[in-house]
Amino acid sequence: MSGPTDNRDGVEPVELDAVVIGTGFAGLLALHVLRNDLGLDVRAFDDAPGVGGTWYWNCYPGARADTEVTAYCYSFDRDLFDTWRWSERYPRQPEILAYLNHVADRYDLRRSITLETRILSATFDEDVNRWLVVTDAGERLAARFLIEGVGLLSSTNMPAFPGQESFTGEIFHTARWPQSGTSFAGKRVGVIGTGSSGVQVITEIAPEADHLTVFQRSAQYSVPARHGAIDADFLASIRADYEGYWQHVRNSITGFGFAESTTPASAVSDEEREAIFEKWWNHGGGFQFMFATFSDIGVDLFANNAATDFIKRKIAETVTDPETARMLTPTDLYAKRPLCCDGYFETYNRDNVALVDVRSDPIVEITPRGVRTTNAEYDLDVIVFATGFDAVTGNTLKIAHTGRGGVDLADHWAHRPTTHLGLMTSGFPNMFMMFGPMGPFTNQPPADEVQIEWIADAIRHLQKTGMDTIEPAAETESAWVATCDEIGNSTLFPKVDSWINGANVPGKPVTIMFYMAGLGAYAERLREAKDNDYPGFRFTAPARTPA
Ligand code: NAP
Repeated sequence: MSGPTDNRDGVEPVELDAVVIGTGFAGLLALHVLRNDLGLDVRAFDDAPGVGGTWYWNCYPGARADTEVTAYCYSFDRDLFDTWRWSERYPRQPEILAYLNHVADRYDLRRSITLETRILSATFDEDVNRWLVVTDAGERLAARFLIEGVGLLSSTNMPAFPGQESFTGEIFHTARWPQSGTSFAGKRVGVIGTGSSGVQVITEIAPEADHLTVFQRSAQYSVPARHGAIDADFLASIRADYEGYWQHVRNSITGFGFAESTTPASAVSDEEREAIFEKWWNHGGGFQFMFATFSDIGVDLFANNAATDFIKRKIAETVTDPETARMLTPTDLYAKRPLCCDGYFETYNRDNVALVDVRSDPIVEITPRGVRTTNAEYDLDVIVFATGFDAVTGNTLKIAHTGRGGVDLADHWAHRPTTHLGLMTSGFPNMFMMFGPMGPFTNQPPADEVQIEWIADAIRHLQKTGMDTIEPAAETESAWVATCDEIGNSTLFPKVDSWINGANVPGKPVTIMFYMAGLGAYAERLREAKDNDYPGFRFTAPARTPA
């Protein structure tokens, strides 16, 4: 039987140990660990003209992290942590991109990275246990390992409103913002979407634009971020106990580095509860507000209602026009990815900002002049889509993956995406997905480190045992999915439509897509798998002695 790694047109595929797809936080780390620590022959690819992944593309005005940066970075190299100087608690996109470029230089990664090159397909050749990877430049690579860091939140969600191509002004998506930037001075701008990207871009554009119209489908529970300098005492405490700090991050639920509450909202008096919410409202941070106030906001209706009542009161106090305040007040549970932004609700007090509720007055079409809803037409010079991502699976499924027996990953996942440990899927040997479906719902850089350590250990295990491939058995994968379902369904997150469950993209399966027990529990599951020699995984011996 001839396999896809066979000679085609007289051109042998380039032999490698591993192909890494993506050069964001996950891909750069994977390349460094596999090439510099394990000594493998690795190449990484990214379709962007620069490294940085989602932080390359998301250069919209106002883009910044909303994780305190002391936990939004790598920890594996203490010297990197000590020598890189962040300017702010929540750095802006250019600073994060500069950090990732510094990482690429510091570990000499660029010589193994091919940019502006998209991976089109990855086909597993069972004859030789190799992945044949084909790029859009026509290059063919045969690699034993495929490591995908393609971005949980990277593939854009671009709604197709009728007439979009007729618009005579400019159209941008926050996640594909022009690197050259753009000016809004003197312009009438419309922003569609009010998620994390939307609240940031809205708040940043409003003072610059002549007029801003926000098209809101769902009101948001946004809390202040409280941008500012990194707390010097906090930084000193991390430096004094570096290992302890990162152990705390890795053992936590969110991986954010703050102390998560262990107190249910119902365990305190009304006055105490109000004081705790007030304290964290003043401290800033969305995950902090959800997880540092009380232990059960994401799982218990009483706690969730207490949090939403508090935020609703803040909206009413902040927004001066009662009708605008009403439209900005969410009516659903507080169970989307929590967001934060300084000055978001205050923006609607500006004379040059108008809010349109597109749930009651839907967008009908984009016209040459702007946006037409059922009730009105809005003349615009610029339309900004802050409509988010085809999250979790979007970029993975853009690559045509063919596993054992010619099975297409899209078919394997037709009903819903499945993995074991958020890392591997049955029938696709030696293919590791960093932040694949059913991975942890946490801050990413520390979780990337937990995952790459596991991947490196799995590769070492193959080397030690003389085996060629590893993959989860189908029943192991089903058991992990059942675990994720059980945990996910015990939370309030499936009750609200969002990218977390796939409900933001029309036609996408709406399902549990995360392991919602937190980073600490997740890391423990990875440790168990490794320490017990990978129960529930299948291994194969080398299929053919390489020539
Ligand atoms: P998002 O949270 O999915 O928000 C998309 C927004 O667009 C929502 O308001 C959504 O309304 C709206 N929308 C989507 N399709 C629409 C349509 N056809 N008509 C009208 N409105 C539509 O996306 P995001 O804001 O880009 O954020 C996604 C995730 O990326 C975040 O949750 C976060 O994890 C990450 N992120 C982080 C930061 C940061 O601060 N570090 C910044 C940006 C993004 P509905 O709510 O009704 O669906």
